[in-house]
Amino acid sequence: MPETFTYTFDTPIYKGKTSFSTGLYIDGKWVDGSKKTTIDVINPTNGKIITKISQATSEDVDLAVVAAQKAFDTVWGLNTPGTKRGALLNKLGDLMQEHFDELAALEALDNGKTFGWAQDVDVTDSIATIKYYAGWADKIQGKTIETTQHKLTYTRHEPIGVVGQIIPWNFPLMMMAWKLGPALATGNCIVLKPSEFTPLTAIRMSELIHQAGFPPGVVNILAGYGGTAGAAIAEHPHIDKVAFTGSTLVGRKIMEASARTNLKNVTLELGGKSPNIIFDDADIDQAVKFTSHGIFWNHGQACCAGSRIFVHAKVYDEFLVKFTEKAKSLKIGDPFGIGTYQGPQVSQIQFDRIMGYIDSGKEQGATVHLGGERHGEEGYFIKPTIFTDVKPDMKIVQEEIFGPVGVVIKFDNDEDVLRQANDTMYGLAAAVFSKNIDRALQVAHKLKAGTAWVNCINQLHPQVPFGGFKQSGIGRELGEYALENYTAVKAVHVNFSLNVE
Ligand code: NAD
Repeated sequence: MPETFTYTFDTPIYKGKTSFSTGLYIDGKWVDGSKKTTIDVINPTNGKIITKISQATSEDVDLAVVAAQKAFDTVWGLNTPGTKRGALLNKLGDLMQEHFDELAALEALDNGKTFGWAQDVDVTDSIATIKYYAGWADKIQGKTIETTQHKLTYTRHEPIGVVGQIIPWNFPLMMMAWKLGPALATGNCIVLKPSEFTPLTAIRMSELIHQAGFPPGVVNILAGYGGTAGAAIAEHPHIDKVAFTGSTLVGRKIMEASARTNLKNVTLELGGKSPNIIFDDADIDQAVKFTSHGIFWNHGQACCAGSRIFVHAKVYDEFLVKFTEKAKSLKIGDPFGIGTYQGPQVSQIQFDRIMGYIDSGKEQGATVHLGGERHGEEGYFIKPTIFTDVKPDMKIVQEEIFGPVGVVIKFDNDEDVLRQANDTMYGLAAAVFSKNIDRALQVAHKLKAGTAWVNCINQLHPQVPFGGFKQSGIGRELGEYALENYTAVKAVHVNFSLNVE
């Protein structure tokens, strides 16, 4: 029997208790992993173990796939009307609302993001996403298509079947909601693996999914390591589709695994190195506010982080002074502390990785304008860091750092800044600041990115698609577009004339 995790939050801004099974959720039950092994869940604020949770291996993935297939064939898929699926999703959204603070607190504890941001963004957006897709569940429609007078031809948008979903640690609950919502609305059954670094909200969600009344096997949640449970999902011959969010490196492995095995349908949401362009006619205070949010929010652990900050020469000095002041004002500390903006990075591995990039920037001759070092004595805190005097081929300019580290680059030519902005293998998001809307839109349309923000940054809504150009991904999440990821189109031809061959 899996252990129960019980935790009491006694913080200045939240007091409450949580208690749930640490098992794998397979076929509507919480079970130990087949090998009875566990994963240590670490608190990034102090490096100490929060709890141990069951670890899934390939045997558990096999069991979950069998349960999901059975549920698909008997109680879900084409067996449940959209209205019922929508009602269950709405119920899940209601339960998340009931446990709003508990989910936010778990996310802050496990990931290190602040309790306030977890409330305002992660949990709020997750509930909104689940409810948005609840609304779609009875609106999944095909078309009738004119062919000849003697035929009725129409399309059906059918669920794909058993889908594997692999998610990262930076927005654990939100990435889960982005995946569950469209997959369940369209009638698929799910085998979902949260990141081994941040499994707690996903495990807690398994209880809410159960309580909402989803039949056993429709959703299976298996915490496990990428190289074992994740790879088993990617390679599984009876998983019909994999939706993955994570690094471009692992995204490539997911595609390779699909190609090697059953050519399963693959959608990928991958990394970024997003440009943020501030023109000389921008409102500088507005640009500073959003630029800071763009790179320092969630401790820089956002796939769409505006990490390459291009500033027009005419406003460079003013911008840099104000941006530096803003970065200095961000309070670093306990995610449950009053007024904290920035908590710790998620893990020792990420901390080391980011510090490695900071060292490489120093070694390659960039100037550390601000920060560039750890904050405090324990935990994985890094000071907001600004590099100047960078060159295009430096690692800190080319590669995704995934931490609170931005590079500020001076420019004086619109064509050239566009060329530099697009000079990356990524194409997830981009931002433009200018009060001249013609100039801003012309540049926004020429940027090679799945999202272009004009005079804002980090705007995400359940109804607006999100995804990448180039090596930032394949397919779109959110909005009506995400439904395409989870449906297969069937054309039905009905002949109603005896004279047609
Ligand atoms: P990661 O690629 O290391 O891991 C993501 C997930 O994949 C985890 O659950 C992990 O266990 C699993 N995994 C690892 N190796 C695997 C393998 N061989 N086979 C199958 N699964 C495997 O990424 P991460 O460090 O968790 O997250 C950070 C990355 O995610 C960044 O690159 C970031 O840009 C990206 N991201 C993208 C989006 C987006 O919407 N585009 C959103 C969030 C994060």
